[in-house]
Amino acid sequence: MIRRDQASASASASSSSSAAAASALGPCGGFPERPGDVANPALIGRGICATLAGCGPSGARARHGPPRRRAVRNAARTGADVAEGLWTAKVASLAEFSAYFDHLGGAVQARFEHEKGLLAPDLVSAQVAGHCGVCRRDSQFLLDRYFGIELADGTSLPNFRERLECGFCGLNTRMRAALQFLEEQEATAESRIYATEQMSKLFAALQARYPDLTGSEYLRDGTAPGRTNAAGIRHEDGTALTFADGSFDYILSFDVLEHIPDYMTALREIVRCLRPGGKLLLTVPFAIEEQAHVERARIENGEIVHILPPEYHGDILDDGGALCFRHFGWDICEDLVAAGFASSALHFYWSKRLALMGGWQFLIVAVKGAA
Ligand SMILES: [Zn+2]
Repeated sequence: MIRRDQASASASASSSSSAAAASALGPCGGFPERPGDVANPALIGRGICATLAGCGPSGARARHGPPRRRAVRNAARTGADVAEGLWTAKVASLAEFSAYFDHLGGAVQARFEHEKGLLAPDLVSAQVAGHCGVCRRDSQFLLDRYFGIELADGTSLPNFRERLECGFCGLNTRMRAALQFLEEQEATAESRIYATEQMSKLFAALQARYPDLTGSEYLRDGTAPGRTNAAGIRHEDGTALTFADGSFDYILSFDVLEHIPDYMTALREIVRCLRPGGKLLLTVPFAIEEQAHVERARIENGEIVHILPPEYHGDILDDGGALCFRHFGWDICEDLVAAGFASSALHFYWSKRLALMGGWQFLIVAVKGAA
């Protein structure tokens, strides 16, 4: 059973949402960053997956994909630390998550304690040592109290997801994870990629690696869909993309879908614009213990109706922020299939060495069928 105080998701938190408002930062669950940290030592060294291969309660489907196999082989060749790779645990339903939580056991609390210890209560910032998987070098990561999260007992925690900025590339946890993960999903310099953002630090970092990258923002300056404004920013409406069918190998949508009332139409548009076999990498605010989405607002007769107190997330184009219509629950996996994807799952990550921390952090991956 998952204790609510332990499992509250803080998978949410778009960049400036002060703390994704209500969601308290849960403890770090995620996947041990190196075999020695695994919850059950008996599982170490069993083949490819030193942590979860062939183990876990039935139903737990946490496992490694081909990129990780490569990483292990490479590590064997080079003597490098296997932890260079971004270890993830693939979990596709609430039942599987429950099993995964049980599997992690004491590691969950241990992660939480580790995170809590990184920034003393009387300090405003700290440098955390680790290895940047983007820069591929050891680095210091800035942890401070911007977008911090208030806990029920009055204490506060840093927003690990939005902070831990690498001293070299300047990218925070979720951005570094996205770049590493995209690489492990076998994106190459030839990949055709669309990101539903263009004015972010992450977009610039993606552009440096992937020349065939298209980005857009939801402009409100009169620019027509598919066109760019004077600043070179492209306008797209997520529910009516201007791209031809099958235009992209990957589509990246990070903390955007919660702002689109008709998100199912947006998902169907993403499916349409992916080639067969193409992948969506998605993050959304997530109610990790909920099967159904937590609806916060809806549109009725063209008007916004608030169901819960309005929650605004940072919007680079609007100081007032963007209204969050919902926190997603595990129904998202079924929604993705209903929208036309062949499969979908959450891929959890947590790594002390890679300075990728902050409760239950994950990327959702949905794959379009081959034909
Ligand atoms: Zn870096």
